[in-house]
Amino acid sequence: MKVLFIASEGVPFFKSGGLADVVGALPKELQRQGIDVSVLLPKYAALPDAFRDELEYITSFVTRLGWRHQYSGVLKAKYQEIPFYFIDNQYYFYRDGLYGYDDDAERYAFFCRAALHALPQINLKPDIIHLHDWQTGLVSALLKGHHRHDLFYSQTKTVFTIHNLKYQGVFPKRIFTDMLDLDWSFFTTDGLEFYDNVNFLKAGLAYSDTLTTVSPTYAEEIQYPFFGENLHGFLRKRKENLFGILNGIDYEIYDPANDPHIFAHFDAHSPENKVKNKLELQKVLGLPVDDKVPMIGVISRLVSQKGLDLIGHVLDEILAESLQLVVLGTGDHYYEEMFRTKASQYPRKLSAQIRFDNRLAHRIYAASDMFLMPSLFEPCGLSQLIALRYGALPIVRETGGLNDTVLSYNSETGDGNGFSFTNYNAHDMLYTIRRALELYQDESTWAAVQENAMEMDFSWDKSAAAYIDIYRKLVKA
Ligand code: ADP
Repeated sequence: MKVLFIASEGVPFFKSGGLADVVGALPKELQRQGIDVSVLLPKYAALPDAFRDELEYITSFVTRLGWRHQYSGVLKAKYQEIPFYFIDNQYYFYRDGLYGYDDDAERYAFFCRAALHALPQINLKPDIIHLHDWQTGLVSALLKGHHRHDLFYSQTKTVFTIHNLKYQGVFPKRIFTDMLDLDWSFFTTDGLEFYDNVNFLKAGLAYSDTLTTVSPTYAEEIQYPFFGENLHGFLRKRKENLFGILNGIDYEIYDPANDPHIFAHFDAHSPENKVKNKLELQKVLGLPVDDKVPMIGVISRLVSQKGLDLIGHVLDEILAESLQLVVLGTGDHYYEEMFRTKASQYPRKLSAQIRFDNRLAHRIYAASDMFLMPSLFEPCGLSQLIALRYGALPIVRETGGLNDTVLSYNSETGDGNGFSFTNYNAHDMLYTIRRALELYQDESTWAAVQENAMEMDFSWDKSAAAYIDIYRKLVKA
């Protein structure tokens, strides 16, 4: 079976968040389980130099977009046995960063249209096209609109994965007439229309054969108004075709026993070395060097989804405890300033690293005793999975994938791999942090919970098998 992933980012080429981790890791596991997988991405300026010379030019053609005619190159590179294809257009993609431009509608409409034009030309005929998030949602609509009578695509089925329902790619109605070249039957409540706008994500939800999202709890949650982002009714109508499959993490990249980025290697059977990571990180960050003080890590996009308002609300109380808090993230100016300001007020307790830094992220996971992630909502969350593997016990709110992966420590039974609270309430979070700090003093119990955490299996094995099951059913249908 041939599967093609179409996505807007993927490790090791381009990353802004968890989506890239999934697009980098899941294909490898699918391939290991016998699927023929390739991946198609835009070629952004951020392509790491190491890959620049490896790219092979395959072909080029012109993609129509309303009145526009745009150059579309196709390049290819193999990475860890997976073919990666890139759509090349300097005007759209040769810019800093990945998203957030005024013409994102045009950029990703172009990407989707060019992708479907490219496949026959490079003779890549997938049984399944697996799409990810709003940037690729149009592909399913275009298949039905532009390629309905195209023999090449007559057997192709589509899977659309929602990585985060919050980001939908909603654009003014004129985008529909100006660049999609679809007839008005697509601009309906059952189609991609959304309050008289165009919604790229909804195009994916409406026209893909099967929908998935990244945890069982989130698959349920998004059918209700609080999490549904005004699409809950629409999703509920499709619930027979909506599945929650938990993300995994790449166990080769996130392996404390072999991680080239960290100061000292360790694993569940020899956790002694973990503390060396704390001591070294304290030196690097200019915090007091002390092996006994508990270190709490936060690695996050700094946006309200991640529960930063809860942290802001009780930050003084948190910092009044005996601990060190290390924050790595970028995002909304408000949160960046909040952490910067507090760090200058409490230089011995809080280190705020306001940037995107992969190596430092690995070092913080390795050094931290606890990992704080009190999200308002969380489709899956990879950070807590990485934290578990590195023996940093997660402190989380019970929502989405956090609910499916973190089991709060139970002193009666000894079960659990972290700490959790239910309500979106800053004092509940503070109480849970204090509970974790208290347990940290009990070295032997702490070590047992840490071992529980490190021994959990969040590799891609089972989840990849669940995707294969979905692909097989579609191909047979
Ligand atoms: P989301 O996809 O919502 O951002 P996830 O928890 O699913 O959240 O994935 C976040 C990924 O991005 C993790 O691999 C995390 O370590 C990484 N990450 C987030 N912020 C940074 C940063 N500032 N520097 C390095 N890595 C980061």
